Amino acid sequence: MARKTDRVERTDRDKTAKAKTTDDNRRGGKLSLNQALNGEGGRPRSMAAMKRKQERTRQKAMGQSARPEKQFREVRLPETIVVQELANRMTERAADVVKSLMKMGMMVTANQPIDADTAELVIEEFGHKVLRVSDSDVEQVITTADDRDEDMVTRPPIITIMGHVDHGKTSLLDAIRKASVVSGEAGGITQHIGAYQVTTDSGAVLSFLDTPGHAAFTSMRARGAQVTDIVVLVVAADDAVMPQTIEAINHAKAAGVPMIVAINKIDKHSADPQKVRTDLLQHEVVVEAMSGDVQDVEVSAKTGLGLDNLLEAIALQAEFLELKANPKRAAQGAVIEAQLDVGRGPVATVLVQHGTLRRGDIFVVGEQWGKVRALINDKGDRVEEAGPSVPVEVLGLNGTPEAGDVLNVVETEAQAREIAEFRAQQTKDKRAAAGASTTLEQMMAKAKADVNVSELAVVLKADVQGSAEAIVQALEKVGNDEVRVRVLHYGVGAITESDIGLAEASGAPVIGFNVRANAPARNAANQKGVEIRYYSIIYNLLDDIKAAASGMLSNEIRENFIGYATIKEVFRVTGVGNVAGCLVTEGVARRSAGVRLLRDNVVIHEGTLKTLKRFKDEVKDVQSGQECGMAFENYDDIRPGDVIEIFEREEVERSL
Ligand code: GDP
Ligand code: MG
Repeated sequence: MARKTDRVERTDRDKTAKAKTTDDNRRGGKLSLNQALNGEGGRPRSMAAMKRKQERTRQKAMGQSARPEKQFREVRLPETIVVQELANRMTERAADVVKSLMKMGMMVTANQPIDADTAELVIEEFGHKVLRVSDSDVEQVITTADDRDEDMVTRPPIITIMGHVDHGKTSLLDAIRKASVVSGEAGGITQHIGAYQVTTDSGAVLSFLDTPGHAAFTSMRARGAQVTDIVVLVVAADDAVMPQTIEAINHAKAAGVPMIVAINKIDKHSADPQKVRTDLLQHEVVVEAMSGDVQDVEVSAKTGLGLDNLLEAIALQAEFLELKANPKRAAQGAVIEAQLDVGRGPVATVLVQHGTLRRGDIFVVGEQWGKVRALINDKGDRVEEAGPSVPVEVLGLNGTPEAGDVLNVVETEAQAREIAEFRAQQTKDKRAAAGASTTLEQMMAKAKADVNVSELAVVLKADVQGSAEAIVQALEKVGNDEVRVRVLHYGVGAITESDIGLAEASGAPVIGFNVRANAPARNAANQKGVEIRYYSIIYNLLDDIKAAASGMLSNEIRENFIGYATIKEVFRVTGVGNVAGCLVTEGVARRSAGVRLLRDNVVIHEGTLKTLKRFKDEVKDVQSGQECGMAFENYDDIRPGDVIEIFEREEVERSL
């Protein structure tokens, strides 16, 4: 699509350039009220300017408008607009606009945003026509050019290493990097910038993301930056397929990214690569050695054995993917890492995805913007530009973006600022409205409105493998011609941040069967508006999913958590049994309510209370912050550190 500013004719561009000069000038010294009202910076006037002024005075004297040749434009006006940009769109001078605003009693500078109502007054004052546009219009200055085929060039693949903890992700990344340092630059110390490039013996360039971890992978994806082309799944040959291996497989599948299996630690005596291969079969990963199509390579991060083969396997996969990008357009990239550096200010490592990022480029990245002051590559060298798939550190940001934020080069500072401010506002609104963005109901509403959405995706965590599998099987049978339930990932144990990330990326709810979300996951879910549903009865779970799948979910809550208590000590009391000395940490403990015993976020007992004591007295309620004694009816296995969840049931009519 053509950029809006491109449509402006030549004369307008001259005006824009002039407005910019005024702006630059203004930055040289402070804009004083006097200067602004005079409408001129301190710069000496050119002859032409003098002539224009004389002409104007003469015309004024003759009772004509100041600029008879003036063109009246249709000014596209979003919810908020930076004064400078407003001036550009009207092809007026920023100083004139500032002046006009001052007359209206608004003291703003050219770089500040004003609301649409104010801007409308200004536009009318200048005699132009207002065209109100929707908010997100500000984003439209970001070029989404259709790339011409002849501009497309092959780009290096971007690789993420995933796998279970201790299977050797970090070691493998280090080994690959070290190998490339030795063969590449003589003795050069590779700087850590969150990603690096290596060249294989056959000359292929590969970009490795140095952020192993499923959370990083999904959070990037959730933020709209799917940067990975190939996932290398590391499985230790002396171990087996473990929970995080499965998680990694599911993450890669959900993202639709091809996998290469690296069977690591092959140097160990206990290594049994064949077991890894057979194990993987169960998770629908059929490696080449088992006549499937997923490449598998035996490696040792310790001895370096097989690393070359791994790199060639990656290069081969990349060739197959035919990865291309257009280096000629305005750059777009994804933030891999960002931090506030004491000496250098905000620094972001950006992986360029399209176009070429150059020093001096003006960009917007997430809710931040800036002008590229310096680019530093993975070898620690300053570079002038970075093309597709090249990771670089970017200096010159006005704030610290987040990993996964997308960077776009735009034409003017005003645009960059406007977009950044718009996004910040949007996030604020989104946070305020969070809690309701990915509920089952909304998903189904969306599914109904959009015929293409025919899958109800869910993430499932359960207390034991048996229930998880039973539920998955049952869920897969649910559904009809229009809707199918797809379990993106299931596993055993507490709901973690990684689960929330996966759910968010795919717009799915998370189901906890006899398990709970841990605290970071709870926070993440609240923040991202991911719905978590807890169940302890399979039929209830299936009923809800069935109802959701048929678009008839009743959203009445059938269970209210009213409080939580932590067990501090356990006393043996004759005649009563084990009594828990507790601290009510949240809400209220109620004698008549239902209770569940949670150990490591897994439900291990559900029942009622036999006693609720405050000091020596039996009481009805105990409030948050107070200590109390609790004992379960017919249940004795309680331990310090366990958590008691207190809930009340609400009977609701079911719609099925
Ligand atoms: P990560 O948690 O997946 O990043 O795993 P690490 O890279 O931290 O490795 C976990 C442990 O396995 C470390 O003690 C490594 O030294 C060891 N390790 C990693 N790769 C190999 C290998 O190829 N052979 C042997 N013998 N040990 C390895
Ligand atoms: Mg590690």
